[in-house]
Amino acid sequence: MTSADLIALDERWSTHNYHPLPVVIREAAGAWVTDVEDRHYLDLLAGYSALNFGHRHPALLAAAVEQLGRVTLTSRAFHHDQLGAFCAELAALTGTEMVLPMNTGAEAVESAVKVARKWAYDVKGVADSSATIVVAGGNFHGRTTTIVSFSDDPDAYGGYGPYTPGFVRVAYGDAEALADAVDERTAAILLEPIQGEAGVIVPPEGYMSAARRIADDAGCLLIADEIQSGLARTGTVLALDHEQVRADLYTLGKALGGGIVPISAVVGRADVLGVLQPGQHGSTFGGNPLACAVGRAVVALLETGEPQERSTTLGKHLHARLSALVGHGVTEVRGRGLWAGVDIAPGGLSGREAAVALMQRGVLCKETHGSTLRVAPTLVITEEELDTAVDAIAEVVGA
Ligand SMILES: *Cc1c(COP(=O)(O)O)cnc(C)c1O
Repeated sequence: MTSADLIALDERWSTHNYHPLPVVIREAAGAWVTDVEDRHYLDLLAGYSALNFGHRHPALLAAAVEQLGRVTLTSRAFHHDQLGAFCAELAALTGTEMVLPMNTGAEAVESAVKVARKWAYDVKGVADSSATIVVAGGNFHGRTTTIVSFSDDPDAYGGYGPYTPGFVRVAYGDAEALADAVDERTAAILLEPIQGEAGVIVPPEGYMSAARRIADDAGCLLIADEIQSGLARTGTVLALDHEQVRADLYTLGKALGGGIVPISAVVGRADVLGVLQPGQHGSTFGGNPLACAVGRAVVALLETGEPQERSTTLGKHLHARLSALVGHGVTEVRGRGLWAGVDIAPGGLSGREAAVALMQRGVLCKETHGSTLRVAPTLVITEEELDTAVDAIAEVVGA
């Protein structure tokens, strides 16, 4: 079938909750994908950072294949030989004490919300059913009914009420607003260290340290959603490491499954995650042997420090090159490591039009919020490939 036929088939039978670029991928390796007409593209989206280590990384594939030959699913009704090691290794990598494995990012956030509320009632002594969680404007934490209840993006929340109560939203990056929003009912402050979906928004220097101090003063938890920012995307295991700030809980996902399996986790303090007792939370697939085996291989890759090093070094190069486009069809570039939001100047192409034009030049990326291009290549991309991609961006934005 041609790509036109395959796109028509998708559009006829799958729900229209996405608006994909008109490219049909058949296979992929490393930083590259190939479409059904044998055209090659550099992947600058990397599965929204689920593919930090590239497509089909040999060490991750080998771990998956080996585990496929043994056992893939047990449920948590029984122990298996990968779970404890995965949790211990992930805790060591992230400097945390305990791990709650789940599957998707949204589930990790939902789990952190549940744990924070339970901690507020069991430990902090908040009156039953009155705990609040403070969140930020422009947040993206997933698509479940509770999570969209505290989104301020009409596309995300519109039409899905009634909404889950118990969330207080304040402007992102405004430490004073955060301080004003916390009180004795506050269970947690939930923040992305860098807001990815909002357009790779980096908060003012010191914001996350201020959030830490505010949480300490209010006796509430700080939860960092590192599902997109974590696992080497910004050059460190956790984006919070740049400010030497520790959260009480972190949500991880996306790259944790190496682009092979969905696996997410809440990691953090044992006295907080320890509020969960048998029967009080769970997931049929959470912490399954296949996901744990791949997750262990991902942790082993990060332990070498190589993905972080590549993100740091290539990220400097990327930002130097993109910054040179400011004033030439670009108004602003934000980000850290191999992660950038590029605002196209008003009067230029829309983000969507730019993404289509890039696709025609063999570069795949995706717009976010109208006129921002999100650049998040795999961390296995070479400097030369990165230059090719930036040249294409420069051409498309009209530099
Ligand atoms: C992608 C993302 C999520 C949701 O992850 P899913 O696996 O799509 O449910 C949550 N938080 C952040 C910061 C994300 O980028």
